[in-house]
Amino acid sequence: MCIFCSIINNEIPSYKLYEDDDVLAFLDISQTTFGHTVVIPKKHVTNILECDDETYEKLMKVIKQLATKIYQKTNAKGINILHNANEAAGQTVMHMHYHIIPRYDENDKLNIEFLENPDKNIEKAYELLK
Ligand code: 5GP
Ligand code: ZN
Repeated sequence: MCIFCSIINNEIPSYKLYEDDDVLAFLDISQTTFGHTVVIPKKHVTNILECDDETYEKLMKVIKQLATKIYQKTNAKGINILHNANEAAGQTVMHMHYHIIPRYDENDKLNIEFLENPDKNIEKAYELLK
């Protein structure tokens, strides 16, 4: 059984911050930063690559509302919204979720760095993706 489906079904306890018919948000057990939250659709889909538009739109609406609330209540200096899709991107729980991660300072426990790729080929990427 999927661990997040078990949380939806109250078979595993969680600190729920928001719930409606389609969406659930609860504190991430890791608390990478204070207030770290995950937001999930109640419908079991793996990630954005498999999600229907209706489910996605409902999820995004809640993420926006909750991100603002968490940002304000924690007095965070910023916020990251993160979605890992597939194992290669770091997804460990295969039930779609977005992380809301309040940010406080450079010493908090999250480090996201966009390093320049020495082998980059931006023209090739543009030709492929335009
Ligand atoms: P992923 O790496 O798939 O993007 O993130 C999965 C997240 O789920 C991790 O941040 C992890 O801490 C969180 N998580 C895993 N199991 C549980 C659980 O049983 N309860 C809660 N609240 N969070 C969990
Ligand atoms: Zn699930």
